[in-house]
Amino acid sequence: MIPDYHMHTTLCGHATGTTVEYVETAARLGIREIGFTDHSPMRQPFDDWRMAWEDFPRYLEMVETARKRGTELGVTVRLGLECDYLPGHEDWLKELSAAAEFDYLIGSVHYLDDDLVVDHPEHLSRLQEQPAAEVWTRYWNLYARAIRTELFDIMAHPDLPKKFGHVPEGDLRPYFQESIDTLSRAGSCIEINTAGLRKPIAEMYPSAAFLTSAHEAGIPLTIGSDAHAPDEVGADFDRALDLARRCGYTEVLTFEKRRPQPLTLPTS
Ligand code: ZN
Ligand code: FE
Ligand code: FE
Ligand code: ZN
Repeated sequence: MIPDYHMHTTLCGHATGTTVEYVETAARLGIREIGFTDHSPMRQPFDDWRMAWEDFPRYLEMVETARKRGTELGVTVRLGLECDYLPGHEDWLKELSAAAEFDYLIGSVHYLDDDLVVDHPEHLSRLQEQPAAEVWTRYWNLYARAIRTELFDIMAHPDLPKKFGHVPEGDLRPYFQESIDTLSRAGSCIEINTAGLRKPIAEMYPSAAFLTSAHEAGIPLTIGSDAHAPDEVGADFDRALDLARRCGYTEVLTFEKRRPQPLTLPTS
């Protein structure tokens, strides 16, 4: 089984289970490598769905505990973080990236510039008041901007604004082409995130169209469940593997201390 590079902990306030239970699920499924990537703290209290900066040492301890259990079970445990990209917060993200010996950092765009959270159920009515084309344009602009900072090893759930089905009509490639070009210049990686299958859109992030363009542009890949509960580790990885292969991918990347290493995908 391929590594699961995206999962959360209780410190963000909307996940369940101990980090040890996440490792134990991985071991049970035959997954030999996982990475914790909880929602990044901000310098000041910010919203109610991320770890507090005061809890950051606790996060490191929880991942360390998981690592010890992983050693017993033959599962390598990586230390990551899912960092929210917000324009103007680059200095904080740099500081944060030096606060521990991370294996990798995931960059995410959840916030649009008017504090609209594109994937938050409580923001859904605000989201739907705006034309999908406008939301998508604003989202992808920020996404390309996040990539350009080169602060992140992996970019998360590329077409996240589709979560509730708020998707423009027609060919979507013009919305994300700039991000593809920017990813290829920056040499960053993207993920297939299976959490979309558990949401109203019932589709993985990103779409096959995005992934095909990404593969053609030589952009590397990781796969993540975005587990917020132990039983979501490795969720729908058979479908993710299938999508990756269908779009031309034959390998994923793994990261140790921010150095990438390719891993060949199983052939069937
Ligand atoms: Zn979350
Ligand atoms: Fe996210
Ligand atoms: Fe996540
Ligand atoms: Zn996520």
